[in-house]
Amino acid sequence: MIKNILVPIDMAHAERGATMINQAREMFGNKGGDITLLHVVQEIPAYVRAEMPSDLDDKAITDSKAHLQNLIENYNLPETTKIKVRQGNPFHEILAEAKESGTDLIVIASHQPGITDYLLGSVAGQVVRHSKCSVLVLR
Ligand code: ADP
Repeated sequence: MIKNILVPIDMAHAERGATMINQAREMFGNKGGDITLLHVVQEIPAYVRAEMPSDLDDKAITDSKAHLQNLIENYNLPETTKIKVRQGNPFHEILAEAKESGTDLIVIASHQPGITDYLLGSVAGQVVRHSKCSVLVLR
């Protein structure tokens, strides 16, 4: 039985979040379960970082948390919905979060809207290949 769903959200294409969140809710039927929204802030290369404000990472994390919180409010998700922001490689951090939080199912979008020539985007493809739990890929 699916009790714990992880929904990774790419802020650059957050409009896909609605579809993923609705799909996650449908998976529970009327039994209920826990949804975690996750965004991974990608690390900035050192040569770029040198030119940027020192609080850039903190700001990215704060902004991401606020954005995920907005999604909870906009989609009337239960107050128990968790938000997580991690830093690093998106595919690696999505799988690490799934392992740490006992995820039963990852609901992920296949790729950016409009990029239909590829079956899977790079993050989605790696998650599908390496995940230990089930993955639902939304086209
Ligand atoms: P594309 O290469 O076309 O952008 P991706 O595979 O990178 O496709 O993205 C597909 C999905 O992977 C996103 O909709 C999201 O669910 C997840 N994803 C990608 N990047 C991130 C990220 N930084 N944080 C959380 N989820 C992400």
